[in-house]
Amino acid sequence: MDKKVNNVQELMKNLKDMGYEVSYFDTAKEAAEYLDGKIDGKTVASGGSVTVQQLGLEEMLKTHNEFIWHWKSDPLEIAANADVYLSSANAITKAGEIVNIDGTGNRVASTIFGHKELYFIIGINKICEDLESAIWRARNIAAPINAKRLKRNTPCAERADKCYNCDSPERICRVLSVHWKKPRGTPYQEVVIVGEELGF
Ligand code: SF4
Repeated sequence: MDKKVNNVQELMKNLKDMGYEVSYFDTAKEAAEYLDGKIDGKTVASGGSVTVQQLGLEEMLKTHNEFIWHWKSDPLEIAANADVYLSSANAITKAGEIVNIDGTGNRVASTIFGHKELYFIIGINKICEDLESAIWRARNIAAPINAKRLKRNTPCAERADKCYNCDSPERICRVLSVHWKKPRGTPYQEVVIVGEELGF
């Protein structure tokens, strides 16, 4: 059997064992249609996720939900008012550990506590062998590409080749979160795996 298929099957089993709801779609389009059908009449927020952008979820969901974008709103407003939070991840291990790096901390905070429903939407490119490689991925692949995308004045932003563990005032890596297991506070938590490369 294809190694990628094996990885997805193992990951899905482990996430289910942790208590997450889990779904899989071959394409981003199918995943977006699923979420568009499921999330209705709610206040929905997203933390500036490129994956969420690639799925076109703002355009779809705002026709029948209130959609609050990270870039257009006060993080405190999002924390206080959004029923549903959409996030991706910088990496996920086959064991189901979810890794994210954040600068302000509001995005990782929203994935830990504060909303009634949480959806992680994760492309197949984010699946890593173990926690060490997942943290490496978050630091050396996702963060430099994000620093470049955001035009930050950091040593990684020019070539997006690796993390230089900088002391720049514009450093975007200030918080590392690892969901070892499903946190207890959010009533509904689903991981949506997509069989395409999404985000960084
Ligand atoms: S710590 Fe600095 S150099 Fe490393 S990825 Fe983050 S912003 Fe770039």
